[in-house]
Amino acid sequence: MKLTFLGTSAGSPTAERNVSSVMLDLRQERGRLWLFDSGEATQMQMQKANFSLAKLEMIFLTHLHGDHLFGLPGVLTTRSLMQKQSALTLVGPKGIKQFIQTVIEISSSWLTYPLNIIELEQDSLVFEDNKFRVEAKLLQHRVPCFGYRIVEKDLPPSLDIDKLQQDNINPGVHYAVLKEGLTVTLEDGRTIDGKDYQGDIKRGKKVAILGDTIPCQASIDLAENVDLLVHEATQEQAFEAKAIERGHSTTIHAANIAKQAKAKRLIITHISPRYSIQDNQKLVNEARRVFANTEIATDFASFQV
Ligand SMILES: [Zn+2]
Ligand SMILES: [Zn+2]
Repeated sequence: MKLTFLGTSAGSPTAERNVSSVMLDLRQERGRLWLFDSGEATQMQMQKANFSLAKLEMIFLTHLHGDHLFGLPGVLTTRSLMQKQSALTLVGPKGIKQFIQTVIEISSSWLTYPLNIIELEQDSLVFEDNKFRVEAKLLQHRVPCFGYRIVEKDLPPSLDIDKLQQDNINPGVHYAVLKEGLTVTLEDGRTIDGKDYQGDIKRGKKVAILGDTIPCQASIDLAENVDLLVHEATQEQAFEAKAIERGHSTTIHAANIAKQAKAKRLIITHISPRYSIQDNQKLVNEARRVFANTEIATDFASFQV
């Protein structure tokens, strides 16, 4: 999977950074896109990054502050103009249903595809199928705000074709049976155990994408052992008191969460408009004092997981 940041500014956009949105690109894994937050102009950012609205399968909102929400009506209504239509699921804190219904009604808009809305009020398992699982936990912000843990399930072991051929077991319908780890009897009378021909299990990846928050236990739980953690870092450490007062984290707070959770990699985002891109090195260096494998997000930066 791949993460692409569509907006990385806190509160309001700047000439360099749009407001919050990040795309989890699952086109390789499931042919679909999952969007996390939708600040103003997210549909424009998606176009610039070549993400099709038609491919959106899920939208997860961390909370209903405008810098994470105001792009949503445009994303939803423009998606109705797409030739290819498919259902869309929207997950977010309670209130999102009323917001969408009101916007659609007042603006005389409409949706041409089924929109399934899941409102969160507490920690929940919000999605699960045979390949992925997504958990949400309540963080600590000025309004209800959630973080998400996205877990790709381990893939079953593949067949060790080389070993099969070395043992003169040629391809045929029995390969499917052996792949399941079952036994088959071949035409030459040999009984073969599939367990002897299994390759390695492919470990699924884990990602945590957190919303606005002060440091809290839920963040550590969501980020436990993840391959990649996306954490806000609105301020540098010198403005710690201001960050906490506004329900936000600093660079050092984010790095401490990554360290305590034993995450493999940290990306900091949701950067205050007080900072320009020239400040990136200063901010990331500060976080690296606590957690070395830290990077700072910029708009359209992509990270392969
Ligand atoms: Zn925010
Ligand atoms: Zn907020």
